[in-house]
Amino acid sequence: MGIGWFYAWKIYMDVIASDEVVAKRLKICSKCEHLMLTANVKLCGKGGCVIKMKTKMKHTTCPVNKW
Ligand code: SF4
Repeated sequence: MGIGWFYAWKIYMDVIASDEVVAKRLKICSKCEHLMLTANVKLCGKGGCVIKMKTKMKHTTCPVNKW
């Protein structure tokens, strides 16, 4: 594996949350009163983000501090 792959892996690990963290966030969002379903896409009614994407971003937070 070359040095390019190492940096790509490092960037991925710095940006993407672990599977456990994502699962925990999705569970909280699924019970949240701000969750919205629009054209089969789950959105956060507070921040307007796509839940599937938002929960995967390591350094993002819930706008009402649920996670
Ligand atoms: S990110 Fe927070 S406010 Fe938005 S749906 Fe999830 S738990 Fe609710």
